Amino acid sequence: MKLGAIEAGGTKFVLAVGNDQGEILEKEVIPTEHPDITVPKVISFFKDKGIERLGLGGFGPIDINETSKTYGQLQKTPKTDWVDYPLGAALKEGLGVPVKIDTDVNVAAMSEAKWGGNATDVDTCLYITVGTGIGAGAYFHGQTLKGLSHSEMGHIKVRRHPDDTYEGTCPYHGDCLEGIAAGPSLEKRWGGKKGHELAEDDQVWEMEAFYLAQALTSYIYILSPERIIMGGGVMKQKQLFPLIRRKVLEMLNGYVSSPYLTEQEIDNYIVFPGLTDEAGVKGALYLAMKE
Ligand code: ADP
Ligand code: ZN
Repeated sequence: MKLGAIEAGGTKFVLAVGNDQGEILEKEVIPTEHPDITVPKVISFFKDKGIERLGLGGFGPIDINETSKTYGQLQKTPKTDWVDYPLGAALKEGLGVPVKIDTDVNVAAMSEAKWGGNATDVDTCLYITVGTGIGAGAYFHGQTLKGLSHSEMGHIKVRRHPDDTYEGTCPYHGDCLEGIAAGPSLEKRWGGKKGHELAEDDQVWEMEAFYLAQALTSYIYILSPERIIMGGGVMKQKQLFPLIRRKVLEMLNGYVSSPYLTEQEIDNYIVFPGLTDEAGVKGALYLAMKE
């Protein structure tokens, strides 16, 4: 059976035809432009490929509630050309196949658990990206986390670091987690240098880990995932991992009892992604297959 998969990102769309064994048979990458340009290109790529269903993991906010009238419709996205664009409906109409939509981070979490990533040995995991924004997706026992729509774990409040006076970049909340810890705010706070140019500055990463560890601690309390995977541009600073792990253990202070949450096991609990380039598109393929 042939299935279609799309990883819809803010800068590019990855289009793939795959099968129900998780193999990618054909792939093409196109830039994210105005939907009137991008969507016809997507439709013409899939049109004669004989796909039976399509899965899409996308940037958001996007309506992922299947019972909603606006399922698959983009919402208040910073990509202004796409605000309120009915992406799911346009693809369904253009291709005449069922279309399943989820967030990029939800499908990445599912991919890491299902298609040979760093969570194949557990039934629950959380995937967090720390890049231009901060978002997290959760995979629990065969399903990704959905409710009203998707969660917005990047926008929680965290306690301010005593040495931090930076006001934050989130247009909605100022100093929410994304507003003070995503890539762009890091760069602005520390004098306009690029993230990789700050690599040697310990203070930068101590503060970053202080914020990310608070968020992880809250996610552990609320969701109790068996693994936490951290990806995105900022997490290329590998020195963050040991800092975050240590601070998470300190903040939990032994309150949650689990063999994972120990000095010995924390390195296997908070980890980097196992799937790199294909995590998104493979997750979308799994979404199409799952029906
Ligand atoms: P996106 O979130 O747009 O998909 P990325 O995950 O690559 O893309 O995130 C881009 C952000 O990550 C940029 O704001 C940049 O600050 C930061 N970034 C990218 N590479 C590095 C790096 N090597 N070290 C630190 N920060 C980085
Ligand atoms: Zn916010």
